[in-house]
Amino acid sequence: MVRLTSLAFLAGFVATAVYASSSPDLAAKKERAMAQLSPAVQRYLATLDESEYELDLDGADEDEGQLAERADSSLQDAASGAWKGCKNSAVSISFDDGSYDYRQNLLDIWTGGHQVSFMINGNNYRCGYDAASVSGNRRALAAGHLIASHSWGHYDFGQAGTSHDIIDRQIELLEEMTLKTLGIVPRYFRFPYGSFAPETSQYIRKKYGYRIIQWSDDSGDSSGAPASQSIAMYNRFKKGEQHLVLNHETYESSVKQVAPAAKKALDKLGVKSVTADKCIGATVSPYKVKTNPQKRDSSWTCEGKPRPGQPK
Ligand SMILES: [Zn+2]
Repeated sequence: MVRLTSLAFLAGFVATAVYASSSPDLAAKKERAMAQLSPAVQRYLATLDESEYELDLDGADEDEGQLAERADSSLQDAASGAWKGCKNSAVSISFDDGSYDYRQNLLDIWTGGHQVSFMINGNNYRCGYDAASVSGNRRALAAGHLIASHSWGHYDFGQAGTSHDIIDRQIELLEEMTLKTLGIVPRYFRFPYGSFAPETSQYIRKKYGYRIIQWSDDSGDSSGAPASQSIAMYNRFKKGEQHLVLNHETYESSVKQVAPAAKKALDKLGVKSVTADKCIGATVSPYKVKTNPQKRDSSWTCEGKPRPGQPK
């Protein structure tokens, strides 16, 4: 009995010694990565064993400053930290405001090594908890496309009266939705309408560890440009140019007319679209957390949560 106790004590001592010599750094990284998650996500992870989820420990530390230094300074806005172009002549096609009715069409189009980014909402054209939204987002994720946050309700963060409480709610509800339905929490964020004050962008970057992705080229679909005009834009692209392109998956013509023509234009140049994280040269996971998606329950709803464009 005494002997067993001593052994147990000794084992405990050895484990403690190993812990002390190798993990303060790791513990600090975990703490930092955890602190960048919304409270709802932190609460859920606390119910899991550590082996059941993967925290991205490097993304919190991957120095965006270094990424920027290696880039043309015109690619990242100094005041807001928002990226407005791709490094290394990359081309990155993105689709905002989904998941929506044409998502499956888009996924059928962007094959053959092209990877695109979906800046998704929780409650915009359709509720993100609807079965069709969930399956569209899951299929995109499985195919290696990027899922990024476009806020819960497509809120205009540039408007007067945008408090930290409003920002926190818009961030948290989307993180909760992607965690439950997809088993991920995004690290990439695009402001609806591209509308924000630099202070808001810095708040989101610092508090939540988000990287802010804007665009260099606008297909013009949200301001009413005809498909022919958007297609002409893609046809002007030349090999060796960078393009970070804004499109919306909620317009039928953007999906059924422009997207196939865009893919054809890139194929003709021998250029593959890359996801937004690759566009800025990041090498770590584009998700703050990865785990298993949860099972549908009564919390999978947009009821009682902010309506599109609404603060509360
Ligand atoms: Zn949008």
